Amino acid sequence: MRYISTRGQVPAVSFSTAVAQGLAPDGGLYLPEELPDLRPFLGDWSKLAYADLCQAFFGIFATDLDAAELQRVVTRSYTKFDHADIAPIVKLDADRYVLELFHGPTLAFKDFALQLLGNLYESQIARTGDRISVLGATSGDTGAAAIHGLLGKAGVTTFILYPDGRISPLQERQMTCTGAANVFPLAIKGSFDDAQTAMKTVFEDRAFADEVGLSAVNSINLARILAQCVYYLSAYFRLPADARDDITFVVPTGNFGNVLAGWLVQRMGVPIKGFRVATNQNDILHRLFQTGTYALDAVAPSVAPSMDIQVASNFERFIYYAEGRDAAKVREIIQTFKATGQYSFENFDHEGFSSSRTDDLQIAEIIKNVYQKYGYTVDPHTACGFSQGSGGKEIVLATAHPAKFPDTIQAAIGQDSTHPSLEVLKTREVVKYSVEPTPEAIKAFMGARV
Ligand SMILES: *Cc1c(COP(=O)(O)O)cnc(C)c1O
Repeated sequence: MRYISTRGQVPAVSFSTAVAQGLAPDGGLYLPEELPDLRPFLGDWSKLAYADLCQAFFGIFATDLDAAELQRVVTRSYTKFDHADIAPIVKLDADRYVLELFHGPTLAFKDFALQLLGNLYESQIARTGDRISVLGATSGDTGAAAIHGLLGKAGVTTFILYPDGRISPLQERQMTCTGAANVFPLAIKGSFDDAQTAMKTVFEDRAFADEVGLSAVNSINLARILAQCVYYLSAYFRLPADARDDITFVVPTGNFGNVLAGWLVQRMGVPIKGFRVATNQNDILHRLFQTGTYALDAVAPSVAPSMDIQVASNFERFIYYAEGRDAAKVREIIQTFKATGQYSFENFDHEGFSSSRTDDLQIAEIIKNVYQKYGYTVDPHTACGFSQGSGGKEIVLATAHPAKFPDTIQAAIGQDSTHPSLEVLKTREVVKYSVEPTPEAIKAFMGARV
């Protein structure tokens, strides 16, 4: 299997190259040259344990890894989850299920992809001998999951930028209390956007990028999307037969990465009925699905901070298919959006998708209502999935454990939400570094440590 760029201006590459590069050199995102048809495999796969299913799925995509190596990578990636099912399903009532994606080491769904990505990097470094420097910017969960996926990996040095004082204290502890020598959490004076802008500029310096072996771990990395496909498959197999073919997956969304993974699984022939894109008050995707216009707006910080995003980077992958795999059209759309802050689709084909928007007041209401009705606590991101749906059967992806957001939970239901792995962190030493949010300062810091 080879991988092409959504912008069509670079040759197809191998799986390992696509993973190592993250972003394609033409600025596009990698996708498989052809999406495989999974239908012939579904019978054999339906009874597999999670890691075995993941291995079978990646066997189709990671064709330049040998089977034994792939097995080692995958097996290692799901050992730090605290539930035997890895991605268990909870039934709330006849029409409502929850897919719990928060049983990994940092209690958010991003662990599914970043545990695997860390092991893929390690395997690659063992083969090539080339060291990797990972640079990322985070508003909370990505940084923590990346750090826990990469800590202690031989040959990897990790730098994560985050806005000082603007992420939750527990999220900061998840990044800064690891004790790992190859991890550098960098607190910057400024916003998440400042961190992200500085990071992008560092990536544009190709000479520096080559010198330190720079790689990206944000959700544009294809390995992350593929790793997330697996829990849709797993959920499909584990749902009761009478629900399976008649259920909508509801996905709390920011960058469109998570829901894209499910949609790709559907395109590969798995008979998933449809998806609801559940946004918070930062609703660029909800507005798009309602009006056909993708229009930038200012980010308004919410109680579901990991969805405080107004440019959904993975949406480019969806556009590629929606526009009939026309890379020139993708370039035109991205250019227009960059220049004017919006793009209106003429015939926006979004069959199978619906959308919803939930503001902070509604999130608090929902956390309370779900708790009263089912005795089940949802985190503020997951709560967005419980807003008014279509009325049919739904399975809501629970993207984070409520204990990561204790203040919001306490305010909504008057209860403490705790988790042992977070309690342990409260006794550990915080190690963080302070840098200016400029590309020069970041490069100097990195250069001195790789
Ligand atoms: C990252 C994140 C999201 C958004 O996921 P996308 O792939 O960006 O759509 C939702 N909830 C939580 C808890 C997250 O960490």
